[in-house]
Amino acid sequence: MRLLLVEDEKRMAQALCEILHQEKYDVDHFADGLEGLLALETNTYDLAILDVMLPHKNGFQIAREARKKGVRTPILMLTAKSELDDKVTGLDCGADDYLTKPFMTRELLARLRALSRRNINTPDGALTFGDVSLSKETSLLRCGENSVRLSEKELRILEYLIANQGQILSREQLAVKIWGYNSDTEYNNVEVYMSFVRKKLSFVGAKTEIKAVRGIGYELREGHV
Ligand code: CA
Repeated sequence: MRLLLVEDEKRMAQALCEILHQEKYDVDHFADGLEGLLALETNTYDLAILDVMLPHKNGFQIAREARKKGVRTPILMLTAKSELDDKVTGLDCGADDYLTKPFMTRELLARLRALSRRNINTPDGALTFGDVSLSKETSLLRCGENSVRLSEKELRILEYLIANQGQILSREQLAVKIWGYNSDTEYNNVEVYMSFVRKKLSFVGAKTEIKAVRGIGYELREGHV
């Protein structure tokens, strides 16, 4: 689970990073509002935690601008008690939930779990698109009677494509999503893994296909019947 944390108070950020790592979240932290916005706009995070008062751009602006660009990552806002109208403004700007500082760790973790569940499109946690379904629990890709197991990266790639259906995802977005913001992954890797996923789609006889859009990126299509 990839999480973006934008928080400028050093001690708070350190404490949050530690807690989130313990809970197995893969955290990218930024202390600057503008850097936070650029990271969020990569649309590669499963969750985002935004502080309100930040240098260069506040949390509300970040949420509003990211939503305008079609970013659907669930956003949890951290607000100070004194900022009374923040709750309203925060929800208004496209944030999904808010938490008042100071807060209990378990309260934060409960909110994050609730937000991450919103991303899953069927009750049993299977993702569906066109004629295929994908189980995150078993890593099985199914089409009718056929199924095949995906590797961890193949699973994450297909999951990401399904979550962003109808959009073209760039190689950069895919590289950041699968290998992380600071990795030196060559974009070739994206192509290699994309071909693995395609082979598995054709192995199960799916009409669903990954279309390469020249010079832009990849898009999941239902294919021709
Ligand atoms: Ca702050």
